[in-house]
Amino acid sequence: MKQFSYVRVTSSASAIAAISKDKTAMFLAGGTNLVDLMKSGVTSPDRLVDITRLPMADIALTKTGIRIGALAKNTAVAEHAEVIKHFPLLSQALKAGASPQLRNMATVGGNMMQRTRCHYFYDTAMPCNKRQPGSGCGAIGGFNRMHAIFGASEQCIAVHPSDMCVALTALDAVVTVQGPKGERKIPFGDFHRLPGTTPEIDNTLQRGELIMAVDIPYQQELTKTHYLKVRDRASYAFALVSVGAALSVSSNNITDVRLAMGGVAHKPWRLKEAEAFLKGKPATEDNFREAARLTMASAKSQGANEFKLTLAPNSIVEALKLAVANGNN
Ligand SMILES: Cc1cc2nc3c(=O)[nH]c(=O)nc-3n(C[C@H](O)[C@H](O)[C@H](O)COP(=O)(O)OP(=O)(O)OC[C@H]3O[C@@H](n4cnc5c(N)ncnc54)[C@H](O)[C@@H]3O)c2cc1C
Repeated sequence: MKQFSYVRVTSSASAIAAISKDKTAMFLAGGTNLVDLMKSGVTSPDRLVDITRLPMADIALTKTGIRIGALAKNTAVAEHAEVIKHFPLLSQALKAGASPQLRNMATVGGNMMQRTRCHYFYDTAMPCNKRQPGSGCGAIGGFNRMHAIFGASEQCIAVHPSDMCVALTALDAVVTVQGPKGERKIPFGDFHRLPGTTPEIDNTLQRGELIMAVDIPYQQELTKTHYLKVRDRASYAFALVSVGAALSVSSNNITDVRLAMGGVAHKPWRLKEAEAFLKGKPATEDNFREAARLTMASAKSQGANEFKLTLAPNSIVEALKLAVANGNN
């Protein structure tokens, strides 16, 4: 591993100042992704700015919803009574991720910023436009069973690996960030981006900006929720396909619905078309199938991930059925 300097900061202002001094400096939170990337030579910062002592781990109800600090641990969020009560989809998604040990270390900000799990990104002997722009994409025509079926480009077909972010996308969360130019808010759906011709850029965070918190608005009626994660092992594995579903159902009619998928695109994939179709319709399997069919219209296989073209619509239908059956009321 390349040598680096280390500084621990005690205020967000000093964190932002410290990172601005050095082009390659990076924030260190739980370290569960960044340290792995450093060990394998994928990321080589000259300076680590340890933010773990900043007072940004609170989880508290607000007038309009809940505010979760960027340093709140994944376990603390998943097991928080108000999260379980008001935002069960978020708790379910977090519990489906990684392992208990990792969730005890991993933070909300770090989870949002985690890099893809594409094998070619991690293997520095292979071409990867995300790791080294212009070097090519080993996954196109290569080993790509984990890869994207939506929104991929000729430069990159990697997927975003987070479970938590699927729930936050479905729940219309908003990210608060602070940087050298002050504070700004980013709707969660705009935080991550598609690869296009610049796959090295995962998200819309600007250089020097620090994620402070995530706000989720109350959606009292969305009581029927399910996070379905299909993976190679029952635990400690990234999603091949995941679906976060949250519904409001009255007399078997869907009055509101939120749907997002993981493991299928460079960003958490919101199913707006399916949501629009389902709203106002009876909660029947036929309608769930049609919603899935509409979603899949823009899907494209890369070869070895052809099975996702069947797995994804089946997962949408299954998640909706389980949400309606197992919801809170
Ligand atoms: C074996 C293994 C299995 C896993 N399985 C899953 C899984 O199934 N599902 C899943 O969702 N995740 C999974 N993960 C990923 C895990 O959730 C992430 O590693 C973790 O969430 C990252 O959080 P962290 O606090 O450790 O971030 P770090 O590793 O400290 O940082 C990651 C990145 O975030 C940046 N960063 C951190 N905090 C901030 C901030 N406040 N503002 C701006 N930038 C910031 C850092 O600079 C760095 O670039 C797995 C990880 C491992 C190692």
